[in-house]
Parts: sequence; structure tokens; C-alpha cells
Amino acid sequence: MIKQYTYKFRLYPNKEQAAFLDNQLGSSRFVYNFFLERAVNLYEVHNIKFNYYESKKIIPLLKKGFPFLKGCNAQSLQASLKNLDAAYRNFFQHRSKFPNFKKKTDSNSISVPQHFGVIDSILSIPKLKSGIKVKFHRRVNETVKSITITKNQSGKYYVNMLVEKTFAPLSETNKVSGTDVGIKSFAAITSGEDANNAVTIKVDNPKYLIRAQAQLKKLNRQFAKKTKGSKNKVKFRKRLSVLHEKVGNQRKDFLHKLSSKMINDSQVIVIEDLNIRGMVRNRHLSKSISDAGWGSFAGMLAYKADWHGRNVHKVNRFYSSSKTCPVPGCGYVYKELKLSERLWVCPECGTTHDRDGAASQNLFLEGIKIRQELPELTPVEYAPAGTQSIVYSRHTSKQEALQFIGE
Ligand SMILES: [Zn+2]
Repeated sequence: MIKQYTYKFRLYPNKEQAAFLDNQLGSSRFVYNFFLERAVNLYEVHNIKFNYYESKKIIPLLKKGFPFLKGCNAQSLQASLKNLDAAYRNFFQHRSKFPNFKKKTDSNSISVPQHFGVIDSILSIPKLKSGIKVKFHRRVNETVKSITITKNQSGKYYVNMLVEKTFAPLSETNKVSGTDVGIKSFAAITSGEDANNAVTIKVDNPKYLIRAQAQLKKLNRQFAKKTKGSKNKVKFRKRLSVLHEKVGNQRKDFLHKLSSKMINDSQVIVIEDLNIRGMVRNRHLSKSISDAGWGSFAGMLAYKADWHGRNVHKVNRFYSSSKTCPVPGCGYVYKELKLSERLWVCPECGTTHDRDGAASQNLFLEGIKIRQELPELTPVEYAPAGTQSIVYSRHTSKQEALQFIGE
């Protein structure tokens, strides 16, 4: 399986190179903002929509009006316009909000689609005579298609190398997992080969992450109190972005480890399709959802599944999984379940459920159904689709079937 993959390495530019990169970053940002503003005006005044090809023709004129752009790689400026085009597309297809103006204090990037090279840990790019030092922490054996140079909020430079990588699919397994985003814990995961041996565990948010988040909150409050434009404010912004970066890296590390383990373990992975933007609006949930990085976790699962031949399924967010009794043959829907209720007793079969656990168990059962429908996975011991109840018919007791472990 050949897939697109990005390597990220830290860059160590000297003073002169950093100044050159800052100028490139600034120019790319300028082009992006210039065309965004123009597009907004054109639309408001003449009702003309943004058009990439029409805008591209203006770049040479722009260089005449703004001579500092001349020191720039023309392809990077074009790439910046392409990014705006992508942002507009995402907006029109309801994938994201209306494009924002880029700020110097944001993380900034420039694309270098061609004419770059790496020899002995030195990166060369167009218009810069000397090469920039790269710290490789792993080997790149593939041909690099294009590169993007980024500067993050704490002032560090990185190079992202886009390659096409061959991934060997993992050997197939009969294991299925269902994962539900937790409110207190990060997630509840039910996994197993069938309902008889399913195990539910709770994955907590790592303690270091909780601590760092508390620190971040405190620093944010202090930052808000500083006078606008003061030296102190600048100092605090820098400290804040360093901490943000640290928390972000720690979270990413945690999510990478968990998603890799899940992909390794299960053939079918079922998660709930949460409307993140809708959820964040709900105050009770906003902290846990946005902080826990559920969106990027779902993204990691999706691309890793793609690399390794696994199946990730998102189940409709209107499917009330935490309200449905997961005991096979019951399936009672407890409509009155409130967000404050951690535990509930099924009025139909008398089983006590933990809300997160019930949700992951239901998603797991959904996964069992999905796996049965996979053409390459139809072992004889499993019931054909449509007669799933046979799978559960050998239960000694309903309660045992979905025992809750990990509490
Ligand atoms: Zn029940």
C-alpha cells in the first residue's frame, strides 16, 4: 500500500538564514492576507467569488507594487495562494469556518514544491545561497516530493518532508473494538473477538497532561491581566506558547501511542462520529472534548487504519449509544439519561451500566456486525449478516457476557 506520509525534522538556521526564512514566511503570509482581503471585497462589492486562476495572474503585478516580494521564491507565493484556495473550498464544502487572516504570532509556513535538496544534513532551498542544518532523527529512504518549512509560535523552525511510503498491511485479526469518548476519563474501550470475551477498559488522561493543563490555565489568567503592548505581555506570550507547545506534544504522544495500539490490536474499530463543533458549544462537555483532542485522535485512527489495512467506522452521532442497554437481547433505550448520571440501571433487565462503558459496549457490538459484513472476514464460526443473534446464543448469563472490567 503506497500512502502519503510526512516526516518532520527540526531546522537550525543561523541568524542570516533565520532572517531570510522570516522574510519568506512574512511574504507568504502577506500574499495570503492580500488575496483574502481582495476576495472579501470583490464579493461584498461585486458579488464575485474567489477564483484561484484569476488571482494567480495578479502575483507578478503584486511584486511590482511590493518590491520586498521579489526576494521570494515565486513557487512559494503561488503555494500560499493555493492554500487560500483550499481554505475557501473547505469553507464552501462546510468542512471548516471562513478563512482567517494570518497573524505573525500564529504558526506560519512556506511550501517549497521544487528545487530543494538535502545533502549530509544540510537543506538547500531556492534563493538562499547557504544550506540550513537539519537534525534528522530518522532515516528517509523515500523520494521527497515537496517540503514545507514552518515556524511555530515559540520560534522554532521545522521542515516537513512529504514522501510516498509503502506500508505493509498488518495480518488480519478477528478482534473488534468500540471506543467512546469519556467525560471524566479520556475514553472507554470495549474490545474482543465476540461478546463472550469482550473486555471494557477506561483510559485515563495522563496525569502529566492534567497537571500541564492546570499550569496552562493559570498562565492564561496571568497573561490576560497584563497590559496590552507591554514588555511583560510579550514575555508572557512567549512563555504561554512554549507551554502550549509542550502540552500539545505530550498530548500528541499520548494519542499516537493509544491509536497505534488500537490499530495493532483490532481489525474493526468503531468510534462515535461526534460533531466536535456542536459539542464544544455545550459548556459541560467543551473542556473534556477539546482538551482531550478527540478530533485529532479520530484523525490518527483513520490514517493509520488506511496505512495498515484496518477498518475504522464512525457511527452516526444520533445513535444514542450511552442510553442503550448493551445486554444482548435487551437493547432497552433509557431516554431519560441525564449528563450528570454516571450510572444507570436498565429497567428492562436490571443491569447496572456505567454510561461511558455502555456506550463503548454498544459501539463494540456495532463493530461485530460490521466485521461480519467484511468480505474478506467471514469465518465459518460467525453468523452471516442478518442473524447476528446466533453469535450470542451460547451465553451462560447475559451479565457475564459483557462484564465490566477496569473499574
Ligand atoms: Zn437491559
